[in-house]
Amino acid sequence: MPAQITQSSVWTQHGWPFIPSIPLKTGSGTPFLTAPGIAIVAKPDTRLEMAKSYLAGFNNGFEEYLKDPNALPSGERLAKFAGQLCYQSFGSKRTTNADAKRYFDNIKESGHGSVLEHPTFSFLFWGISRSVTHELVRHRAGFGFSQVSQRYVSGKLVRFVERPEYQDDPELHEQFTRRIDTMAATYEEVARMLFSRQRGGAEILSGEEKTDLRKRVNQAARSVLPNETEAPIVVTANARAWRHFIEMRANPHAEVEIRALAFGTFLCLKATAPILFDDYEEVGLPDGTWGVTTKFRKV
Ligand SMILES: Cc1cc2nc3c(=O)[nH]c(=O)nc-3n(C[C@H](O)[C@H](O)[C@H](O)COP(=O)(O)OP(=O)(O)OC[C@H]3O[C@@H](n4cnc5c(N)ncnc54)[C@H](O)[C@@H]3O)c2cc1C
Repeated sequence: MPAQITQSSVWTQHGWPFIPSIPLKTGSGTPFLTAPGIAIVAKPDTRLEMAKSYLAGFNNGFEEYLKDPNALPSGERLAKFAGQLCYQSFGSKRTTNADAKRYFDNIKESGHGSVLEHPTFSFLFWGISRSVTHELVRHRAGFGFSQVSQRYVSGKLVRFVERPEYQDDPELHEQFTRRIDTMAATYEEVARMLFSRQRGGAEILSGEEKTDLRKRVNQAARSVLPNETEAPIVVTANARAWRHFIEMRANPHAEVEIRALAFGTFLCLKATAPILFDDYEEVGLPDGTWGVTTKFRKV
């Protein structure tokens, strides 16, 4: 079986979910990975007690809102407070945390998704290829990206990603390992030749500073790197944007590598903000991978 993301892939550390991905090496030592690594690195830290003086200013008991005996996860706490501010729903008739699921179902059903834009979640993704990140960065609304620079980072840190289709096929796997060995060697060779031309006075790179020269060498040498080069990335998005990403990509029509990433992202979000993502049903697909469906699409 190729490495796959399933419900049992999720680990937790101090209550924070992550999906590990361990690098392997070819016989010649070229590193590669076979599945996405996914880790939530930041989530909301909601302090509603900071709203106390605002709530107390109405002199009508609004600050009782802060004494709700049922604690919510921080993302839900923030989004619910923001949503309830819209109607000043802080009084005794408000929806309490015990009914948070009904509150968010109503938000999702009515499409008033802007309150889901308050909680943001930042992920580190690794073990994903440049072709996946090319698809990932097409998501614009509510997203921020910081991706490894192939201009600054030396070829010594380059790793590759083996597609699931190759992992169980000895011939395709063998061809993959040979190809990435060749790629790594070609990259080094091109970089070495560019350095030596420059040092021989050819001035083909017009680099003066040492880091500038390294950057110019890397930016030229990277042209030989394939789509299966690993492209680690930090991605921050709000809950509404993550929902749209999951619906588009943890989907049978999506490409299999980004589908695994989206499904793993969903699993980590569900573990972190369960009510914001509890309408998704996990669906086993004929190829053994997983996707999700929901009746509340694109809130
Ligand atoms: C199965 C699949 C196949 C694909 N194939 C191709 C392909 O062949 N070629 C290709 O180029 N791309 C392809 N894509 C990428 C796709 O076209 C989108 O670029 C990508 O999925 C991001 O979706 P989005 O624009 O809805 O998301 P976001 O950019 O995150 O936007 C979210 C939502 O905000 C609104 N929005 C965002 N920006 C604007 C805007 N400028 N104006 C108005 N409304 C806006 C829209 O409602 C949008 O759905 C494919 C995607 C999938 C899932």
